[in-house]
Amino acid sequence: MKLESFWQATAPEFTGAASTPLPAHADVVVIGGGFTGVSAALNLAKSGVDVVLLERDQVMSQASGRNGGHCNTGVAQNFAALVASRGLEEASRFYRAYDDAVSYVNQVIDEEQISCDFRLCGKLKLASKPGHFAALREAWAQMRESVDPNIQLLSKEDVRAEIGSDDFHGGLLQLRGGQMHMGKFGVGLAEAAARYGAKIYPGHSVTGMKQLKEHRYLITTSQGEIIAEKVLMATGCSNEGPFPWFQRRIVPVGSFIVATTPLPESLLSTLLPHDRTYVTSLNIGNYFRTTADRRLIFGGRARFAMSNPTSDSRSGAVLKASMVKMFPALAEVPVEYCWGGMVDMTADRLPRAGEHNGVFYALGYSGHGTQMSVWMGRVMAEVIAEKQPDNPWQREAWPALPGYFGKPWFLPVAGLYYKTMDRFS
Ligand SMILES: Cc1cc2nc3c(=O)[nH]c(=O)nc-3n(C[C@H](O)[C@H](O)[C@H](O)COP(=O)(O)OP(=O)(O)OC[C@H]3O[C@@H](n4cnc5c(N)ncnc54)[C@H](O)[C@@H]3O)c2cc1C
Repeated sequence: MKLESFWQATAPEFTGAASTPLPAHADVVVIGGGFTGVSAALNLAKSGVDVVLLERDQVMSQASGRNGGHCNTGVAQNFAALVASRGLEEASRFYRAYDDAVSYVNQVIDEEQISCDFRLCGKLKLASKPGHFAALREAWAQMRESVDPNIQLLSKEDVRAEIGSDDFHGGLLQLRGGQMHMGKFGVGLAEAAARYGAKIYPGHSVTGMKQLKEHRYLITTSQGEIIAEKVLMATGCSNEGPFPWFQRRIVPVGSFIVATTPLPESLLSTLLPHDRTYVTSLNIGNYFRTTADRRLIFGGRARFAMSNPTSDSRSGAVLKASMVKMFPALAEVPVEYCWGGMVDMTADRLPRAGEHNGVFYALGYSGHGTQMSVWMGRVMAEVIAEKQPDNPWQREAWPALPGYFGKPWFLPVAGLYYKTMDRFS
């Protein structure tokens, strides 16, 4: 079993890194070479801005290259719960932002001719408990009225025709959900940004930031200094770097994934005949899909732990057991890849994008960000260029999490709480 991300292992090499030493100055410095940062760099460079992107490791080395591969519409939480907390108007606006984000990913792929197996396949949310079906029904009624007239509620029998497993009690089908090869997309996006003139510096870790005047910052990296007229922070849940204000607001939570060896078409057509993206309704549930070369990619929280090779392989064993419980026919199928990554969680699972102390930022996608990060890269490029885009995540107050200073000591407690909720729901 290879302890590496299938997306990273099978993506082309990025060839567009800057070949000159770090310049002394740039109009905009973007920190972070995931989807948010690279999309922002692409959009800034496209409109003629002198932009430098600093990436600690390689482009797409963190969440953007290590995720589950779903590119779905819809918010990260149950829509009915979001309506209850935010009201229908705001919840609908948030929901539509994800529609825009999926459309934008599709648009960029077409414009930049990125070959990444993108397809709109529909997303099926599966009720793991009979009681969860009632919650899905409530969300369905509200979503059909307000944001998605085509959404379908599937009975237990309908779901059995969608998935070769007896584990589920109904489902919710959103037809605009999509999927792609995240490594091919990410590298293609970065090559496009470099083609438009963005200077991309992998291996440049930001270690210090000093405000010189309003938006102007002196940035210290592991490879030298640069003055930026404006800075965009696109560092996900990074706990490395001079970002203490953000580290008190974003919690890194591990999520883990396994990929099988390629499966026979005859087997896949009985397990997943409609070949969609799938997510279960438990708090500590699973997400899965197939790949173009016919593997099953199966992910989940598995354990409340950080991602590192030992932790990833332990979580891989938990995931394999869950996969076989759901699909007994996969008992003898080998797992070829196993990896994990850190999800950038906010307390309310809503992203944030705005400005703090003169630094622009977009992060906190809370495990539902492959589309929103690409979209927010574009939105923040427009904010930085002083255009007036609609930024759904610009909010006045973003309080720090009480008692949290960057070490998520409360995760085991949260894990226990969610496990108990799952058991008794
Ligand atoms: C295991 C897992 C599964 C997921 N599954 C899905 C899914 O199926 N669907 C979905 O929609 N979303 C999913 N997500 C979430 C999604 O992948 C992210 O929301 C999205 O990729 C975030 O992109 P980003 O560019 O903001 O952050 P990242 O991709 O994390 O990029 C941040 C970059 O900043 C760099 N960096 C950090 N600190 C510094 C520093 N000091 N100096 C320089 N560079 C720095 C990092 O190296 C990194 O490359 C998943 C996430 C994980 C971890």
